[in-house]
Amino acid sequence: MFKAFLVKYAEIAIKGKNRHLFEDALVKQIRHGLKKADGEFRVTKEQGRIYVYCDSDYDYDEVTGIMSRIFGVVGFCPVVIHEMCGYEELAKHVVKYVDDIYPDKNKTFKMNARRSDKRYPMDSMELNRELGGVVLDAFPEMKVDVHNPDILLTVEIRSKIYLYSEVIPGPGGMPVGSNGKAMLLLSGGIDSPVAGYMIAKRGVKIDAVYFHAPPYTSERAKQKVIDLAKIVSRFTGPIYLHVVNFTDIQLYIYDQCPHEELTIIMRRYMMRIAEHFAKETGCLGLITGESIGQVASQTLQSLAATNEVCTLPVYRPVIGFDKQEIVEVANKIGTFETSILPYEDCCTVFVAKHPVTKPNLNIIRNSEKKLAEKIDELVDEAIRTTEVIIVSEES
Ligand code: ATP
Ligand code: MG
Repeated sequence: MFKAFLVKYAEIAIKGKNRHLFEDALVKQIRHGLKKADGEFRVTKEQGRIYVYCDSDYDYDEVTGIMSRIFGVVGFCPVVIHEMCGYEELAKHVVKYVDDIYPDKNKTFKMNARRSDKRYPMDSMELNRELGGVVLDAFPEMKVDVHNPDILLTVEIRSKIYLYSEVIPGPGGMPVGSNGKAMLLLSGGIDSPVAGYMIAKRGVKIDAVYFHAPPYTSERAKQKVIDLAKIVSRFTGPIYLHVVNFTDIQLYIYDQCPHEELTIIMRRYMMRIAEHFAKETGCLGLITGESIGQVASQTLQSLAATNEVCTLPVYRPVIGFDKQEIVEVANKIGTFETSILPYEDCCTVFVAKHPVTKPNLNIIRNSEKKLAEKIDELVDEAIRTTEVIIVSEES
């Protein structure tokens, strides 16, 4: 039925030269997304608008599913396009549109005509009045409701004529790749996939690091992280997931340092290693799923202690969220069910009974000195043996 879609994006939010960069990036992302779909598609920028033309048969649900996950898309409208024509013919097109799209005529509607081509002999007001009358004559069951119509029937007169009435929501945000790249510390929990999604939504490409501690953490725990990365990649595109074997570092910290400081020291080493991969791959920041006060390692003092070892900015998009707010996003993006699968993670395996909640940096630095003998070697070894998995929707 529909051979095209009109893409809506937040045009007012982007100014000047950035606007066409944004549009070009969005076109590129839509093209890239639609490569996965069966069929032939053309994505074009015309007169400050983006259209998707479907040049062959396609699966409507597949295409709308893909489009609704492309960052930068605020919404999109399945549209019927006609060549410029006179009023009589336009009226026929409108009636046919309503008849085809709405088999059930027991609906209210409002005409929404827009004339951007001022040469057209009728203005928007006249078009609304006349076309509204034509629809009512053709379908007496339909009623006008100007405040809360079931159908907002839009007729745009531009160089062609565009008829549409449905807006399918997109995720908003900015096209991935328009704002650089960052490294996500991805665990198997609820928070970090949400954090990655939120930063990617602002146009940032995402890679990820996962700290794995076999045999204390199982293959299933690792697979769970891969599965989470796969769900996130439906929005972000392929993710290079670095799987770091963290066991020897954890055991060494466990042997050498006071147990109440384990989590903080371990997290400092996670940040250092994540930063190594971030710099190596051109990432401009790190991302974590930390939220103030959620656990002992996320008090302001603990966050400061973890943060101290980083030279890159650390982005913590859920920092002010309550758990319930994070869960809402996790549900929306489809990671929640996977996140709550009960596999152990490396932070819980080596957790102390009474972790410090207000770590003192001098004390932590001193404890780390006890690692001097072997830690550099162990970190190098962990980096050298890291496995990189390219995770994408198809993989
Ligand atoms: P999440 O739900 O994201 O696991 P959490 O509430 O369990 O978070 P922590 O375990 O303290 O909190 O972890 C805080 C953040 O540190 C995580 O959001 C994640 O970014 C990172 N992190 C924790 N464990 C790992 C891991 N094994 N591999 C990679 N990153 C991790
Ligand atoms: Mg966790």
